[in-house]
Parts: sequence; C-alpha cells; structure tokens
Amino acid sequence: PQPNPQAGAAVKAADRAHVFHSWSAQGLIDPLAVAGAEGSYFWDYDGNRYLDFTSGLVFTNIGYQHPKVVAAIQEQAGKMTTFAPAFAVESRSEAARLIAERTPGDLDKIFFTNGGAEAVENAVRMARLHTGRTKVMSAYRSYHGATSAAINLTGDPRRWPSDTASAGVVHFWGPYLYRSPFHSETEQQECERALQHLEDTIVFEGPATIAAIVLETIPGTAGIMTPPPGYLAGVRALCDRHGIVFVLDEVMAGFGRTGKWFAADHFDVTPDLLTFAKGVNSGYVPLGGVAISAEIAETFATRPYPGGLTYSGHPLACAAAVATITAMEDEDIVGQAARLGSDILGPALAELAERHPSVGEVRGTGAFWALELVRNRETREPLVPYNASGEANAPMAAFGAAAKKNGLWPFINMNRTHVVPPCNITEAEAKEGLAALDEALTVADEHTAQ
Ligand code: PLP
Repeated sequence: PQPNPQAGAAVKAADRAHVFHSWSAQGLIDPLAVAGAEGSYFWDYDGNRYLDFTSGLVFTNIGYQHPKVVAAIQEQAGKMTTFAPAFAVESRSEAARLIAERTPGDLDKIFFTNGGAEAVENAVRMARLHTGRTKVMSAYRSYHGATSAAINLTGDPRRWPSDTASAGVVHFWGPYLYRSPFHSETEQQECERALQHLEDTIVFEGPATIAAIVLETIPGTAGIMTPPPGYLAGVRALCDRHGIVFVLDEVMAGFGRTGKWFAADHFDVTPDLLTFAKGVNSGYVPLGGVAISAEIAETFATRPYPGGLTYSGHPLACAAAVATITAMEDEDIVGQAARLGSDILGPALAELAERHPSVGEVRGTGAFWALELVRNRETREPLVPYNASGEANAPMAAFGAAAKKNGLWPFINMNRTHVVPPCNITEAEAKEGLAALDEALTVADEHTAQ
C-alpha cells in the first residue's frame, strides 16, 4: 500500500478531537492511525507494516479480511442487513446450529449477545434465576468484561474503579504454579490445594447462597495459566455437590485459539453455561453469546427468560459467524492452531527462554502463549511490579517499543507478553515474529538483575 501521511494525519486529528477511548487517560494517548489490514498484518499511513501478535484484542482467529467471510458479510448485507430478534432468521438459525454442534456436551441452546461482557452478564442472570441464589464466585487473575456483573467478577485492577460492594461476588485463587499462593511444588499439589481452597471458600460463604462459579477455562489476559489436570473436573464436582451452576468463560479461549474448538475440550469437562464472543466470527461484526445446558434451558421452557437485546442474533453478525466457522472447518484452522503450538511456537519460545534471562516462564498451547518476564529468574521477581505505570513500567514499555521498531505488534499485560497471533498465521510469518521478539527480549534482558 502507498503511504499517505496526509490522510493519516486527518484520521488522527478527528480521533483526537472526538473519539473517547477505552481504559485511557484521553490526553495521554497517541493511537496509531491504521490504514488497512490483511491476514496477520496491519499497516499505518506512513508505510509501516506490523505483524499482529495480538489478534486485535485476541479475536482475529482467522486473521484480517478473510475473503470468504468478507464475501458472506457482503452477501448477507445485500439480502437482509438486519432484523428483530423475535423472528426466526436463516443466518441466526444456522449460526446457532453450527455453534451448538461444537460446544461440549448438552450445551445446545444459544442466547446471542453483542459481545463477551453481555454474555457473562446473561450467564449470571440465568444462573441466579435457575438456582434462586444470588452470590457468584470468580477467580482473582481473571477478566470477564466491563459491564456491571462482568466487571465485578473480573479479578484484575480494571475492576477497582467500578466495584460495587452489593454485586454479590466472592473472589478466590485459581491454580498458578509459577506464582502459587499455595506453596505448591508440583502440578498435582497445586491442583489439590487450589480445589481445597475453593471448597473452603464455598463452605464459609454458605453453599446454598452461591448461584454460580465463573471461570475462564484458561485465563487469558490474566496470563494464560493452563489449569493442572483434574482442576476443572474438581470444580465441576464441587458445583454438582452444592447445586452451583458452573460457567466457563471461553470468550478469549474459545473458537480454535487453544488448538481445539473450545478450551474445555482439553479437559473433558462440560459446564452448565459457556460464554463466547471474539473468535466466533473473528470480531468481523460484534457477536457473543451463551451456550446453555438442557437443564438450564428447561428452566426457561415455560417461564419467560427476563433478558434480551435489540441486536441479539444480528443477521449480519450471525452470517459472519456461519462463514467463519465454515472457513475454519474447510481450512482446518483449529488444527493449524494446534500445530502452530506444538511444532512452532512451543519449541521456539522454549528456546528463547533458554537464551534470555528476562524470560521466567513460557506457557500455553495452540495460538495462546504467555512469556512471564522477570528481573530475576531465581526469585521470579516480575520485570515490573503488579499494575505498574509510568517510570515503574519503563522496562515493559522499552520492550514494547523495541518490538514495534522491528515490525512486531506485541500483546503486553503487566510483566507479560502474550504470543497470540491469528490461528492461521503461516510458519514464515510466525518465524518472522519470533525473530523480532528475540531482538526485543534483549532489551528486556538489560533490565534483569542477575
Ligand atoms: N471474558 C473474557 C475471558 C475476555 O477475555 C473478555 C474480553 O477480553 C470478555 C469476557 C469481555 O468481552 P467484551 O470485551 O466483548 O465485552
């Protein structure tokens, strides 16, 4: 693409004048003006191209501008751009069928939303109505969205300014061997102690007051901590024992990201409710939803479900989901993610960890990896403190700037960088990104103290 700095300046000027950005101090940000995107790359108006190791906000599982999905959106726009949610509409019916066929177990009914937070919001509403209880439990080190129930469930600093004490949320610690609060030395110990901690919390909260436990199957933004074998099955058993609805949040981990359709497939567990968004149509048109078990669906068979959205199951978004799922099937994009993890990213990142003293741990699966950057491998002191900003965050900022200088757009959260490219990134592209990451890590290495 031809550089066009003048056009870029106009886009930037209108943005700075009128766009109010998420999570930001409006006067302190400098958003890049993006001219276009294709596959695993995007570019600005000045002739700079970036390899996107973030998949947007981890949603472009099939990359940007997939031609089949773009064509399906165009076709649907020509046929039926929009329609109200109370009607049976072809693209909505078909999207629900394709999703239900892939979600685990008996999760066969789909309630559509516009995104992930609304999916979580409605899953909580369903659980409360189904059980007649109000309290909901979730993990520290989690993100569930920025609406009322979802932000209260969230276990990271984004919750703090929006916390409402009346929300009825109780947080607990999930398993995280690298920074275990349970003094565990093995995965099995970590699993047992995390389950014991959860059970103790349930008992002391009062099992009969708890409507739901909401967990990311593999926590995403919080650090891609794959739970040890047996943990999710243990949570399932606790939920069954106490009549608690088990909600798995697969907004980030679902739709191929981990090398299976859903992360729950790795653990052979079926939740009562599963929330999804992002990868369902790679974010081409806003869409999310809740997949609902037979038992919970039955609760609302004769009793009206008291929740809805004007754009629930929007025809354009659903057509994008149908085309995305079909393309993922035709091109084996889930298999591509699995092989990307096992054959390319896994070995290459392990090798980077050996050479770079700033890499404390590498963990992940499929197209879903985290590198934990540390000042000291022995003490595991993070490269920057928890929730650091300004000067305290300078080492991570320097790492990020170095990656961008090398044409790599990195995902950064606190002291971690996540390697979360599109599931169908090519081997050559992945290697290009890994080379840029290698160079950027030398900048992080300069901030280590060992
Ligand atoms: N749940 C998880 C696990 C997420 O990662 C996110 C977004 O990052 C959400 C929920 C919220 O989704 P949305 O931003 O579409 O509301």
